[in-house]
Amino acid sequence: MTSTRLAEAQLGGRAIRRVVFTEEEVQRRVWELGAEISEAYTIEDRLLVLGLLKGSFVFLADLVRRIALPLHVDFLVASSYGKGKVSSGDVRLLYDPESSLEGRAVLLVEDIVDSGTTLRKLLPRLEARGSSSLVVCTLLHKPTDGDGHRPRFVGFDAPNEFLVGYGLDHAEDFRHLPYIASL
Ligand code: 5GP
Ligand code: MG
Repeated sequence: MTSTRLAEAQLGGRAIRRVVFTEEEVQRRVWELGAEISEAYTIEDRLLVLGLLKGSFVFLADLVRRIALPLHVDFLVASSYGKGKVSSGDVRLLYDPESSLEGRAVLLVEDIVDSGTTLRKLLPRLEARGSSSLVVCTLLHKPTDGDGHRPRFVGFDAPNEFLVGYGLDHAEDFRHLPYIASL
């Protein structure tokens, strides 16, 4: 199947407005982030990459394969958005990582930081668990996160549009697109 046919089949007739970051742009940036992260840590840091599901799963899978250090992977599930496009501001922890964070350098991987609410609610809870450091890596960062602090590692500054693809969904659709598009 050609890549054009695959792309059409993945959309299944649904329309996207435009491609915001192509597959090639995303892959190049993920390689760069992998190199930046590899530089920032050492073996002694005992890196634990903690993916926030579901949105980060594609990004995390590509990212960890570009990190030149031993590391562990775990996930946590927080829910805040439901089916809508606007945050309800309510963040629930549906799954808690089994790994102990004690003494490890924790890298929390997010798909997108928008209002910053998810991180503001989540980080204090994780900070209480004795990690040696807790740093955020997000694929996308939206300008709406005005008063929040910018995550240490940012893939792309994103336009203030609703984005899908490369793990990001709308009502569970579009997660498997290899590029990032706006709806
Ligand atoms: P925040 O709490 O920072 O406002 O939002 C973080 C979460 O909102 C992200 O992890 C993501 O699940 C969701 N979100 C924010 N903006 C977008 C977007 O443009 N597209 C999608 N699919 N999800 C978004
Ligand atoms: Mg998310």
